[in-house]
Amino acid sequence: MIELKGLTKVYGKGGSAATALSGVNLNIEKGEIFGVIGHSGAGKSTLIRCINLLERPTKGEVWVDGTELTRLGKSQLQEHRRKIGMIFQHFNLLSSATVYDNIAFPLRLTHTPKAAVDRKVNELLALVGLTEHRGKYPAQLSGGQKQRVGIARALASDPDVLLCDEATSALDPQTTDSILRLLLDINKQFNLTIVLITHEMLVIQSICDRVAVIHGGGIVEQGRVTDVFLKP
Ligand code: ADP
Ligand code: ADP
Repeated sequence: MIELKGLTKVYGKGGSAATALSGVNLNIEKGEIFGVIGHSGAGKSTLIRCINLLERPTKGEVWVDGTELTRLGKSQLQEHRRKIGMIFQHFNLLSSATVYDNIAFPLRLTHTPKAAVDRKVNELLALVGLTEHRGKYPAQLSGGQKQRVGIARALASDPDVLLCDEATSALDPQTTDSILRLLLDINKQFNLTIVLITHEMLVIQSICDRVAVIHGGGIVEQGRVTDVFLKP
């Protein structure tokens, strides 16, 4: 489903160049929940942003669903990006748009007919449990509700992959739990492949099938969660 080959990312040039990733190889299967864990500065964010080319790798290949993304032109890349949803630590919602309009945003970008937008948004509102809050603005929502909007928006274009960038790091433990349960639900219901990065072991242990440990821009260990984090 997702294959990263020799992924290398160097920020800056010359004396100030910083290598964030060096030669990362990863293989993520369709329908699995794959976690990447590491300390701050390890390269997690760079890694996940390279999967949809929000960050352009310096070297290496990014394969998603049989297509190598780094070789695509702008319009082809845009087409493929629709199949890759993303959610963020700080939700990245439009503050002047309602819950409904935030979720509808990606559909309107692609000129989806009004009736189809309405049908899809209502379906997603029900899925994430926000039907009653459709007319509210982000500032009127709790953190967990904001992330539910983020999840609904990410699912609007029926992606094959959901990228989660520290998606629960701004939430309290109880809310984290409910968001993780929602992600697990969505994974099972749609056979959606989920890639998440986190610095929290608990997140990995609650929902991931496999995990990679990243350190200093390289994968130092990977495998099934139960094998990598075997209790002593
Ligand atoms: P993590 O998400 O694990 O905290 P990052 O991918 O954000 O790690 O960062 C990896 C390394 O790359 C760090 O040393 C960081 O300082 C550096 N880095 C990240 N983004 C940039 C950038 N835009 N410009 C320069 N260096 C960066
Ligand atoms: P830092 O100084 O950045 O905190 P450390 O060397 O203390 O880094 O390592 C911190 C963590 O990084 C370890 O607890 C482990 O999770 C991970 N790590 C580092 N090197 C390895 C390794 N060779 N194999 C597995 N995990 C590693």
